[in-house]
Amino acid sequence: MQTNLADFIKNTPEGNEADAILRACVHCGFCLATCPTYQLLGDELDSPRGRIYLMKQMLEGQPVTQKTQMHLDRCLTCRACETVCPSGVRYGRLVDISRGLVEKQVGRGIVAGTIRFALRQVLPRPDVFATLLKLGQWVRPLLPGKLKRSVPPEPQAMGIWPEARHTRKMLVLDGCVQPALAPNINAATARVLNKLGISLLRAEQAGCCGAVSYHLNAQQEGLDFMRRNVDAWWPYIENKGIEAIVMTASGCGVTVKEYGHLLSHDSAYAEKAARISALTKDISEVLAAEADKISNLVKNSKLKTRNSKLAFHSPCTLQHGQKISGLVEKTLLAMGCELSMVPDAHLCCGSAGTYSILQPQLSQRLLKNKVAALASGSPAQIVTANIGCLMHLQSGTSLQVRHWIEVLDEQLSI
Ligand code: SF4
Ligand code: SF4
Repeated sequence: MQTNLADFIKNTPEGNEADAILRACVHCGFCLATCPTYQLLGDELDSPRGRIYLMKQMLEGQPVTQKTQMHLDRCLTCRACETVCPSGVRYGRLVDISRGLVEKQVGRGIVAGTIRFALRQVLPRPDVFATLLKLGQWVRPLLPGKLKRSVPPEPQAMGIWPEARHTRKMLVLDGCVQPALAPNINAATARVLNKLGISLLRAEQAGCCGAVSYHLNAQQEGLDFMRRNVDAWWPYIENKGIEAIVMTASGCGVTVKEYGHLLSHDSAYAEKAARISALTKDISEVLAAEADKISNLVKNSKLKTRNSKLAFHSPCTLQHGQKISGLVEKTLLAMGCELSMVPDAHLCCGSAGTYSILQPQLSQRLLKNKVAALASGSPAQIVTANIGCLMHLQSGTSLQVRHWIEVLDEQLSI
């Protein structure tokens, strides 16, 4: 695709990056069929190719309207289009860059702007989020049906976090909403890794990965969260011989793996951020490297009596964002679990960070379709790999939805 960027963006780092991405697109349209919003709405402007045209026009200085913003807002940033694109178009980066520029030009109305501001104040702050969640859980029994379902019940207790006694050590990201919504996920990860001879540590000063602010067009705020995590983790990397930074939420994982790229223009952080991204691993990648030890644990346990059929929902941030496919399934099969078939497994569940709040109608349609697909193989439980997907799916089904590492932990604890 030929481009002619406008002066306001030409020769800037973002402009150069956007230009290279635009030029890679050959308009083939292979991405259309895989796009969830194009499938639902049937409008080319709600497809990857249509949005690429809109972004190109904006970057070339043509007038931008709220209609442009609406079509970009409707995108889930699921990146399914990247998975099928034969030209390697990095659509996710292009839409991140473009949304910020569009917002500068057309702004937001008071209501939409306030909701987005409130999300940025609450979600990345674990204490604030935990307090509001507690309040919601207290009044939950008094709420009417729909509102009641939007407040998650009290989570499963986190159980024991084993003492750090192994030479092999890894760090884990607590994240922002996960400690309040599902504290057992990271504790289960610590117990599983402990059985494999690895101690899992937490850095108290680390927090939100930065994705919430970054994807709500507060890019500088998002980058500040990233810098804070780099500062919190660096002493562990320098002095404590940390082997990896483990992610149990694939939405955080995809972002931390991009720290090196996102902070590459910050001379004080570029090198450290690149090292951190290189050390970052989804828990499925960590366990895949320990497959032999896991099969020994399986041989010595009585888990075959406790197997049940599971449906695995692979989050977009795992399969499209991090390009990790099949690792979770392989580990669960090695544990003797039975996995049900899930049609259209490449499609987003509609959670997509804050999308379920900002685009409720589209999100609910995607949720309904996803729950039907997951339930079609008659599983006993649904498992997934990201807290956002987990809570969203749970709001739409009576089947129990859990993080897959909790199932593994339970099996190995028999
Ligand atoms: S598949 Fe890739 S190259 Fe083809 S239209 Fe879509 S983004 Fe462009
Ligand atoms: S990121 Fe997802 S929703 Fe957005 S254009 Fe690509 S496939 Fe469609």
